[in-house]
Amino acid sequence: MQVLVCGGAGYIGSHMAKWLAARDVAVTVLDNLSTGHREAVQWGELVQADLLDPASLDRAFAGRRFDAVMHFCARSLVGESMTQPYAYYANNVSGTLNLLQAMQQHGVGRLVFSSTAAVFGQPTRDRIDEDHPRAPINPYGASKLMVERMLTDAYAAYGLRSVALRYFNAAGASPDGDIGEAHTPETHLIPNVLRAALGTGPALKVFGDDYPTADGTCVRDYVHVDDLAQAHLLSLAYMDQHAGAHVFNLGNGRGFSVREVIGAAEQVSGKVVAHEIAPRRAGDPAVLVASSERVRTELGWQPKYTALAPIIESAWRWHCKPSF
Ligand code: UDP
Repeated sequence: MQVLVCGGAGYIGSHMAKWLAARDVAVTVLDNLSTGHREAVQWGELVQADLLDPASLDRAFAGRRFDAVMHFCARSLVGESMTQPYAYYANNVSGTLNLLQAMQQHGVGRLVFSSTAAVFGQPTRDRIDEDHPRAPINPYGASKLMVERMLTDAYAAYGLRSVALRYFNAAGASPDGDIGEAHTPETHLIPNVLRAALGTGPALKVFGDDYPTADGTCVRDYVHVDDLAQAHLLSLAYMDQHAGAHVFNLGNGRGFSVREVIGAAEQVSGKVVAHEIAPRRAGDPAVLVASSERVRTELGWQPKYTALAPIIESAWRWHCKPSF
C-alpha cells in the first residue's frame, strides 16, 4: 500500500509516517516546510509542494501511485485564526480544495482528513458525540467544518471515500524520543508547561482561571499522537469496507484542566512549573471532551494512553533530549 502523507514534516504527520512505515506501508511525504521540519521526515521520500500551488501538487502526484491520502497540512492555532482568518480560509479550505482536485485528476479515491473538536464551538453536553451541533466560535473550527461539508459533497458527486477525524488535543511524543512536538513560536499547553519546567521557556501563562470548571481553568481531552496514528490506519481499512464520507470524534473521553496538566508535569519531571494567571485567550471554550464511543465501536480504536501522566512522560523524554 502507498500512502501520501500531506504535512508529514509536521508534528502529527511525522508520527503518522513513522507509524505507517513500521507497519510496512510505503510513505511519501508532501510538505512545503513552512512550519514542518525537514529532519522530521525520516520515513519515506519528501516531495516539496504547496497546497496553494496547484501546479506543484500536479507534479507531486504525476508518476506516483497512491492508494490513499492522509491530510495533515493546516494552520491550526485558535488564537491566530481569530486575528488572521484569511490565512485560515486560504490554507485550510482553498488548499484542501486544490488537494481534492489533484486527487481526482490523478485517480486517488480515499482520504483521511484531520478535523478538529473546534467544529463544535461551545459544547452543550458533557461528552461531545458526533451529532453534537456544529457551531464553531473561531475561524479555525469554521475552516475545518467547511472541509467536512466539501467531503460530503465530494462523496455524493464523485464517490470520494473519506474519514474525517475530529481530534481533541493531540499530545505526547514518540516513545523512543526521536520525534516530538516543536512549533515556533510554541503556543500549545504541554510543550509550554515542559519548557517552563526545564527553564528553556518562560513561566507558563495560564489563560484564564475564571471559567465555569472545577478549578476555573480550561478542560481539554488529551490524546497521544500514536493513538491518533492508530486511528488513521484503522480508517484506511474502514474505507475499504464502507463507502461514504464518515466522521469520528477522536478523544479519550476524559478531560483534564490546565492546572491538572501542570500538576502531572511537576510529578513526571520532578520540577516546579513556574506559572502565572493571564487573561483568557480569545476563541477558547471552557470544556472540550469527546465521547469516543463511535470511534471505538465502529473503527475498533483502542487508545494505549488513557491517563495524562504517560502522555506527558513521553513528551518530557523528548524535551529532555540534548539536541532539542
Ligand atoms: N493554554 C494555556 N497556556 C498556554 C497554552 C495553552 O493556558 O501557554 C490553555 C489554552 O487556553 C487551552 C488549553 O491550554 O485551554 C489547551 O491549549 P492548546 O493551545 O494546547 O490547544 P487547543 O485547545 O487550542 O487546541
